Amino acid sequence: MVRPVVAIIGRPNVGKSTLVNRLCRSREAIVHDQPGVTRDRTYQDGFWGDREFKVVDTGGLVFDDDSEFLPEIREQANLALAEATVAVVIVDGQQGVTAADESIAEWLRSQPCHTLVAVNKCESPDQGLAMAADFWRLGLGEPYPISAIHGAGTGDLLDRVLALLPPKDEEDDEAEPIQMAIIGRPNVGKSSLLNAICGEPRAIVSPIRGTTRDTIDTRIEREGQSWRLIDTAGIRRRRSVNYGPEFFGINRSFKAIERSDVCVLVIDALDGVTEQDQRLAGRVEEDGRACVLVVNKWDAIEKDSHTMPMMEKELRAKLYFLDWATMLFTSALTGQRLESIFALAALAVEQHRRRVSTSVVNEVLKEALSWRSPPTTRGGRQGRLYYGTQVASRPPSFTLFVNDPKLFGDTYRRYVERQLREGLGFDGTPLKLFWRGKQQRDAERDMARNQNRMG
Ligand code: GDP
Ligand code: GDP
Repeated sequence: MVRPVVAIIGRPNVGKSTLVNRLCRSREAIVHDQPGVTRDRTYQDGFWGDREFKVVDTGGLVFDDDSEFLPEIREQANLALAEATVAVVIVDGQQGVTAADESIAEWLRSQPCHTLVAVNKCESPDQGLAMAADFWRLGLGEPYPISAIHGAGTGDLLDRVLALLPPKDEEDDEAEPIQMAIIGRPNVGKSSLLNAICGEPRAIVSPIRGTTRDTIDTRIEREGQSWRLIDTAGIRRRRSVNYGPEFFGINRSFKAIERSDVCVLVIDALDGVTEQDQRLAGRVEEDGRACVLVVNKWDAIEKDSHTMPMMEKELRAKLYFLDWATMLFTSALTGQRLESIFALAALAVEQHRRRVSTSVVNEVLKEALSWRSPPTTRGGRQGRLYYGTQVASRPPSFTLFVNDPKLFGDTYRRYVERQLREGLGFDGTPLKLFWRGKQQRDAERDMARNQNRMG
């Protein structure tokens, strides 16, 4: 299913990134593309209750002296809203309504999506309501007082966002094409692979709404499944553009990763894993994408029966954070193992979308706890893990409710993740684990919701 898009907009410094980080609980929302250029749109995966959506941060609407949108910013914002179901405009409750807020509101009223006004920095519940009331005059409906920093009010806001999303239709899952991004440094053989697996000229090309115009995706059928190969124009284009040989369109790769379900990370068997490979791999993991590692130019390696396992060990040592990804040795030149790319990608995507019931998760956790107890501090406080539940898929994400997250160090956290993998599988997909203290107010509510959903 295509996940609905929620756009977060507002002036700089109203707290957009803070809210986005709260919704997505992942890496920093702020991504500066190029200095001096408008901050680019970023997409992240958000979830609340049983819904998953994409959050797009428009990166701050900047205005000229007359509180008019700068044209290139307006362009970015229009693109973001073209694909959004709900736009959340953030305003600063402590500042009150500004002229720029009014310009945004006027522009938003002409947009086709639903709009919610979040009045941020309302830490005090009583004053918050009064502060928020002022924003009725933006003409965008009821203002929601929130504190993005502390989380107050964000639950109500998100409930409202969910209510505006189209109904979830799980049946759609199968019919949607799998989005696959072929990524890697220049010269590793991406376009050779693309040609070899798709044939040339390639079947169908379709520009995608809401993305830059030179993004071209390729649709093909393999393994009884539709695939959309992302940004195939970017794979081919390099040669015709006069960048230096060292130019590496990393931002373009990052965009492709963001749009993908599964990434095929191509590595050159002759070069091994370089720092650029590691950056891409790191981003795949951070963004929570399924992944297949393809070691290409296998034909060019002199080998005996020990070469493959030895090389796999060597490559994996440098890509330890993708230890869950399957590694395949291919040759775009001879066609060796190319069809396995789709089979493995399909498996990885299946795991990426998988959901496990709360009772099964807790069985595995119980087992893990009995083999190895959580650490105890020098002061004698022991970590307690009460229960866990899968809160999202794509990638499978688990919330673990504990007495105090600080008591769980990296070593124990990694241990629990390993046990979850061992008990539950999940080859080909990263997992996300959220460690939450029981005192957090919405913990109980989340649990109740998840139990309702998963039984
Ligand atoms: P953005 O530019 O809109 O993405 O804003 P940021 O998320 O970077 O936040 C701008 C500033 O506002 C930072 O100094 C935040 O610490 C502060 N801020 C964000 N949310 C809140 C909030 O709920 N209350 C208060 N008092 N400050 C906040
Ligand atoms: P891209 O920049 O990642 O798209 O890489 P290309 O597909 O343009 O390939 C770069 C160079 O590597 C070209 O000279 C290809 O012929 C060569 N190449 C690509 N795949 C293979 C392979 O499997 N084996 C060998 N020996 N050479 C390859």
